[in-house]
Amino acid sequence: MRKKLVAGNWKMHGSIQANVALLDGVIAGMSGVDSEVLVCVPYPYLAQVSAKVQHSRLMLGAQNVSQHEAGAYTGEVAAAMLAEFGCAYVIVGHSERRALFGETDQVVAMKCAAVLAAGMSPVLCVGESLAERDSGRAKSVVSRQLSVVLDCLGVAGFAKVVVAYEPVWAIGTGLTATPFQAQEMHAAIRAQVAALSPVVAENLRILYGGSVKPQGAAELFAQADIDGGLIGGAALVAEDFLAICRAANS
Ligand code: PEP
Repeated sequence: MRKKLVAGNWKMHGSIQANVALLDGVIAGMSGVDSEVLVCVPYPYLAQVSAKVQHSRLMLGAQNVSQHEAGAYTGEVAAAMLAEFGCAYVIVGHSERRALFGETDQVVAMKCAAVLAAGMSPVLCVGESLAERDSGRAKSVVSRQLSVVLDCLGVAGFAKVVVAYEPVWAIGTGLTATPFQAQEMHAAIRAQVAALSPVVAENLRILYGGSVKPQGAAELFAQADIDGGLIGGAALVAEDFLAICRAANS
C-alpha cells in the first residue's frame, strides 16, 4: 500500500510572521489527517520552519537545488545544505523553473541525482503545456521528461523518487485536470516505470498538482494511481490545506 503524500509548495510566498500563523494553523489540525504532509518553503525560511515542525508530523522540503555539489556557483544552494536543515524532500523540475529559468530535462535529472546523493527524495515534476495537450502530445512529452531522469538514475534510483504530474495549463490557473485525465496520465507514468521494474512502479508515489482545491480533491485522490497532491495556492491557507490533506485520508 502506498501512503498518500500531500505536499505544499509555498513558491515565493511567506514572511517570518505569516509563516508562524500558517504553520500554527496546519499543525493544530494535523490530528484529523492520516496522510504524510510536507511543506516546501523558500530557502530563507528553512531554519524557521525546521524548528517549527520539529515536534509535529509535518515534514520539511525545499523548492529547488543546485545540481552541483559545491563550488563557485554564486546564489546556488547545494543538496547537502538542504539536508543539514532537515529537508526530507526537494521539488525538482517544477514547470516554473523549466519555463522561467531554462531548466532542461538533463539539468532536472542531475538535480534529482544530487538530491538522492544527499539522502533526500526528489519530488520530480513533469507535465505538458496546453499546446502540447491540444496537439495530442501530452503523453509523449511526459514520457520524455520521465525517461531522461530514469536514464540518469536507473530504475533502482527511482525507488526514492516521488513524481508529481502537473499539467502546466492547470498550475495557478484555476483549471484542474479531470480525475479521468489525471488518472490516465498517472497510469501511463506508472506503466513506463513498470516496464523497467514492476516493484519500483508499484511503490512509486505519483502526486497530482494543478489548482487542487478542497472541493474536488477527494475525487482526484480516489483514483487508483493518484497518491496525493502537490498543492500551490491552497497550501497558503491553513484550512484549505488541511481540508485537502483530509481528503487524502484512507
Ligand atoms: C504548484 O505550484 O505546484 C501548483 C500546483 O500550484 P497551484 O496549486 O496553485 O496550481
